[in-house]
Amino acid sequence: IQFEEMGLDPRIIKGIHELGFKEPSPIQEKIIPQYLQSPGDMVGLAQTGTGKTAAFGLPILQSIDTNKKVPQVLILSPTRELCVQIAREMELYAKYLSNVDILSVYGGAAIEPQIRALKKGPQIITATPGRMHDMVRRRKADLSSIDILVLDEADEMLNMGFQEDLDAILAGTPKTKRTLLFSATMPKEVATISKKYMTSPVEITV
Ligand code: AMP
Repeated sequence: IQFEEMGLDPRIIKGIHELGFKEPSPIQEKIIPQYLQSPGDMVGLAQTGTGKTAAFGLPILQSIDTNKKVPQVLILSPTRELCVQIAREMELYAKYLSNVDILSVYGGAAIEPQIRALKKGPQIITATPGRMHDMVRRRKADLSSIDILVLDEADEMLNMGFQEDLDAILAGTPKTKRTLLFSATMPKEVATISKKYMTSPVEITV
């Protein structure tokens, strides 16, 4: 199956072709059509380097409402580097879409500029759990319109002790959202949060 046959927006296809993506990677072949054709939660067992950012990033870009300036997608990942990289990749994919605003929120950097940027209502937030929790605590992030949540590298987030932050952040998101969880491994801690945060997720392994 080719990118053109998956139901992706032609503007997104144009963007990724420019990046040199010719064919979908195995995880993209499995996740993108599944995401676009059926609603519901998903667990993806995949390592970095498999193209998982595009696997969730491409269909997510086409499900946001660009007329609304409110956070609709929250992507949590364990490190500042990863969260910046996800935002950067998604910005490249979104090159031919208009009015897509993606913001990275992470610790180890001044909080004020991030607070100001949050006020503009980015549709997509990529964040580390600690700083995101801080934003929620300070009431600087409105997560009541989140309809897509991605937990990327869930095993790493748990290893790094972000369980409490995740619980607190997720408590502020609507129950009706769609959740995607990615993990390289499936230790019992990840199985536990997948049970806790998701409803009969479809499991995808590559
Ligand atoms: P990731 O696993 O998401 O970190 O992606 C690893 C790298 O592969 C990134 O630099 C992507 O830009 C690139 N990539 C993702 N999907 C494709 C594809 N279908 N064709 C070529 N490169 C890709």
